[in-house]
Amino acid sequence: MNPNRRAGDGARRESHGSFRPPSMARLVWWLGLGALAFLAPVVLGGCWPYTLFPDYRFQTPTPFEGSRLFDPYSGATGRWWKANFHAHAYAWRGMTNGHQSAREVRRFYRHLGYDIACVSNYQSIDTGDPGDSDVIPVYEHGYNLHKIHELVIGAKRVTWLDFPLDQSLSDRQYVLDRLDQDGGIVALAHPWLRNGYPTRTLRYLTGYSLMEVARRGVVGADRWDAALSAGHLSWIIADDDEHDLARPGDTGVSWTMIQAPTKHRSDVIAALRAGHTYGVVGHHGVSDVGLREVTLRHDTLVVRTDPGATSFRFIGQNGELRREVRDSMEARYVVRSTDPYVRVEIVTPHTRMLLNPIIRYDGSALVRRTAKPMEPQEREDRALLAAGVIPVLGLLGFLGIPKGRRLEGRGTDRADDRCP
Ligand SMILES: [Zn+2]
Repeated sequence: MNPNRRAGDGARRESHGSFRPPSMARLVWWLGLGALAFLAPVVLGGCWPYTLFPDYRFQTPTPFEGSRLFDPYSGATGRWWKANFHAHAYAWRGMTNGHQSAREVRRFYRHLGYDIACVSNYQSIDTGDPGDSDVIPVYEHGYNLHKIHELVIGAKRVTWLDFPLDQSLSDRQYVLDRLDQDGGIVALAHPWLRNGYPTRTLRYLTGYSLMEVARRGVVGADRWDAALSAGHLSWIIADDDEHDLARPGDTGVSWTMIQAPTKHRSDVIAALRAGHTYGVVGHHGVSDVGLREVTLRHDTLVVRTDPGATSFRFIGQNGELRREVRDSMEARYVVRSTDPYVRVEIVTPHTRMLLNPIIRYDGSALVRRTAKPMEPQEREDRALLAAGVIPVLGLLGFLGIPKGRRLEGRGTDRADDRCP
């Protein structure tokens, strides 16, 4: 008699009517299968936009040039309105960070003296209360690891396309183009936050009209200067990006002033497009001084405020300080022929005001740079090149080619994290 067989039979008999714990291997197998079933849709859902493979041809960064100077404030009419375009309310059943209702947020800002109080929830447009004609529809776009977010002001519909993981330069451009095509005016939101828009990308990207240069009391002017220095024009907005009205420091610390005939949606959006704005960093929605005048007289920029300004700073190409005037109500700067742009910051003990730039142009209409998607044939050629080169590079790496001799930057020429 086979002792092994008897033992097995006995074990099978004992299993009838009693619980047999699963073996470790079987447990791992089922756990793995469950994890795969859960992760597969997430991974596939996150990766599908990358299959669109949008490649762009970017223009070489060049400073603004021309014999004439464009002054965005010259054509502005009407009074100045105080606005916050970036605030979050409770949304998406609490999955996103917003604590009060949209109505409470709007009411709070109006009590604080704001004329325009927007709610910019993630991927959701606030349409206001019934009959409220003052509401400007805004939403914040973006659901990705690096907080690459945009505000769409005057939005008509939500754009759901995004690249949730890393984003190449072309991926970013593709999103901006889609947002621009889908209506509204596009602003880069807090571009320095989690390095969402590195300065090197801002030398190439286009397709946006506004940049959130100040957010919740923090100024990220280096990103603005990087784009302006490369010839990419955008006008300033400044916002709180409020998430909780009860949290100190979340409200009334950064706002946008807009000069427009009325605060109706169409006038405000036209003023945003035209650059009739400046940004303010202050406290409780209050500025130390009022801006009285910004005028370009021939080639001389004249700025005047109420008493109280401690410094007027004229800033030019690459963010360099061109001139500083202290303890005065008025400051002047003669724009040099070598200045592609000049912008002004006014500093007081508790306030910082950032004005839009005066830029060089040829005297006709302002021309915005564009980035063009590559032709299908061009894309195929590059994909084939990449398909051939990448395995060769991998083989060379595997064979242990000394580091100094390794080929660099000769793989795919797709405009990715490397800027072109
Ligand atoms: Zn936000």
